[in-house]
Amino acid sequence: MSKFWSPIVSRLTPYTPGEQPKIANLVKLNTNESPYGPSPRALEAIAREVGDSLRLYPNPDAEPLKLAIAARHAADGITAREVFVGNGSDEVLAHAFHALLQHGKPILFPDITYSFYPTYSGLYQVEYRAVPLAADFTIRADDYLGHGEAIGGIIFPNPNAPTGCLMGLAEIERILQGNPERVVVVDEAYIDFGGETAIPLVQRYPNLLVVQTFSKSRALAGMRVGFAIGHADLIAALERVKNSFNSYPLDRPAIAGATAAIEDEEYFRKTCGMVVASREKLVASLTQLGFEVLPSAANFVFARHAQHDAAKLAASLRGDGIIVRHFTSARINQFLRITIGTDEACGTLVESLKKHL
Ligand code: PMP
Repeated sequence: MSKFWSPIVSRLTPYTPGEQPKIANLVKLNTNESPYGPSPRALEAIAREVGDSLRLYPNPDAEPLKLAIAARHAADGITAREVFVGNGSDEVLAHAFHALLQHGKPILFPDITYSFYPTYSGLYQVEYRAVPLAADFTIRADDYLGHGEAIGGIIFPNPNAPTGCLMGLAEIERILQGNPERVVVVDEAYIDFGGETAIPLVQRYPNLLVVQTFSKSRALAGMRVGFAIGHADLIAALERVKNSFNSYPLDRPAIAGATAAIEDEEYFRKTCGMVVASREKLVASLTQLGFEVLPSAANFVFARHAQHDAAKLAASLRGDGIIVRHFTSARINQFLRITIGTDEACGTLVESLKKHL
């Protein structure tokens, strides 16, 4: 490591993204992408935007997109002032961690969760405490209560990743009420596949930041668009961080494509419904094969087999041209995380598993 940069950099543990293989014809069920394309309206909008206007900087506030996101949540009192957008929800989350820079008090997040949280903590020098999941792999609201002023904030995905387990809004509300002086970030990357969003709570809880993405339920992972909804003061602080970092995080095609995508509610509902239906079929097949499948409200399932080693199963699937995700950390190293593909892709997976069990 170069001695010329800060020692903080050599101590970083960077996030390792899931594999993006170059080989065609693989059944790719490892990074929770949508098996369906983006809304055709989004593709048209993107195509319209790719031309001479690329000479010009984009709107720094991504105004049309903020307005479209706010319009979708108008019934919950959301206006563009309560909306923040970024280059993927990863960037939105990075700004949230940055806003807690050297806060001096540890933030809390689950010990089994999205592994970018410890990475951002390292980058922005935010102390953290990893809170163990319950025995059934759910997040226990009680563990996030009673810390008073000793903590700097709370963040968790809902549903959690990589477990897929969902927390109900009543539990989230208990966490918000128990931490009125602390920011509570709910990362809803997978909320559209069966969960209930916390966005309606934003009006009542000025400490709530809800983060969502266009990468999963709107099939725009390759475009990198994410957003947050929260009290205007929380959002204004994120804008300060963003404008101290990159005032144009979203390019013109991204603003146009994401705006069209969020306006196409019909396509969104249809494709989310297809993913949920395929998930239920896959859960039934895996259960029949003897897997224990955690209850999933996401576009993936987390499953283990009492008689078969997960690493070996992942390798056997790979041999058959199917990629799933296997994590090596202690408590979850016997699980496979399987993204919900088309029924056909899920069927190919099940047939391959039958061969190897
Ligand atoms: N949060 C969670 C829990 C995720 O799993 C992911 C996807 N890896 C993200 C946020 C980031 O998604 P994106 O940056 O594509 O919006």
